[in-house]
Amino acid sequence: MTSNANLQQRRVAAVPRGVGNAYQIFAESAKNAEITDVEGRRLIDFAGGIAVMNTGHGHPKIVAAVKEQLDRFSHTCFQVTPYESYIRLAERLNKLAPGSSPKKTIFLTTGAEAVENAVKIARAHTKRSGVIAFSGAFHGRTMLGMALTGKVVPYKVGFGPFPGEIYHVPFPDPALKDDGAQSLKILETMFKADISPDNVAAIIIEPVQGEGGFNIVPFAFMKSLRELCTKHGICLIVDEIQTGFARTGKMFAHEHSGIEADMITVAKSLAGGFPLSGVIGKAEIMDAPAAGGLGGTYGGSPIGCAAANAVLDVMEEEKLVERSNHIGKLMLDRLADMKKKNSFGNRIGDIRGLGAMVACDLVKADGSPDADLTKAVVAKAGENGLILLSCGVNANVLRFLMPLTAEDKLINEGFDVLEKTIGQA
Ligand code: PLP
Repeated sequence: MTSNANLQQRRVAAVPRGVGNAYQIFAESAKNAEITDVEGRRLIDFAGGIAVMNTGHGHPKIVAAVKEQLDRFSHTCFQVTPYESYIRLAERLNKLAPGSSPKKTIFLTTGAEAVENAVKIARAHTKRSGVIAFSGAFHGRTMLGMALTGKVVPYKVGFGPFPGEIYHVPFPDPALKDDGAQSLKILETMFKADISPDNVAAIIIEPVQGEGGFNIVPFAFMKSLRELCTKHGICLIVDEIQTGFARTGKMFAHEHSGIEADMITVAKSLAGGFPLSGVIGKAEIMDAPAAGGLGGTYGGSPIGCAAANAVLDVMEEEKLVERSNHIGKLMLDRLADMKKKNSFGNRIGDIRGLGAMVACDLVKADGSPDADLTKAVVAKAGENGLILLSCGVNANVLRFLMPLTAEDKLINEGFDVLEKTIGQA
């Protein structure tokens, strides 16, 4: 039998170290919210392939849709011989996207590519070049994605120079309890000192920062950004790559703030594990680039579109939006209980969440971020049979991204393991 140790050895020899790995545990199979490793060990999956498996591993409906598509054809390229499933998926997303403006959708392959394309479209539409992003943001690992990303370590180290005309504004600081008023003020100052709003093509924001630490954008700030973008003719791009598709208790996280984006970038859970991303946007903006200016060989592949159409069916049939709110509450209760018990000497700091996008900070006795403890908890959790993820600018946040199809019993079992693990780490 192949062992984890043997595979790790081969991995180190064959794969560059830049491809980091949280665990030296290698997957053999997976079902719903459980993974079995190559040594036959069962693991509870609280990572969901980094927010991809909202509909669970191996959902029979999604598997059947993909198999059926594979039997018919696997690839023709939508730009050569198009197919109906791409159009159907676009129609569905155009309807699902918040707001009343007519929408159009382009499909691509990865999240970073969706971000790149949203910026291309914004530049073509506005004929401007500047793009504003936020500190702590994560928008992907391509050159532009990295330029937009606020967190430097480890994403940007040694890779510059990055594309120009990118500006960063401080993310609203929850400690100020000002609904982002300070950030708005800095943005307005930037418009006077650094870049005229007439040169800004887009502002891009995650409604809840994912890699940055599950930081929720105040709803009032989202509204202010919307007003500012409308006033200056700037495209507001909402990056829903990690937050999208029922994760936050709404289909799209920015529904919580009641705004309509100019463009929405989507990926990850859209196709339940098949590489597919997209940009959904207002039709008049999406049509700005010339014919042939957008696309890609694998953009909106037939397999990805078949999977995504099945994912949307499953989300509706299994009421995953409601389920997300239920799971979120369960998690917040468990974390609050762990904090109240204080069995780890005040090591659990802030607990926060929107729907099932829940996280907690791990802190030192003086309340400062504890990245070492977080790393130790993640590693120990793996030994104890729980796959966990950390995040955050200070690398001290535990985030929970289990499939929304996970049963309460399993989620509780996972939190039992976590509780034991924090005590051991
Ligand atoms: N944008 C956000 C908000 C993300 O969370 C991610 C990935 O974590 C990306 C963009 C990049 O997506 P991908 O890794 O599919 O390129």
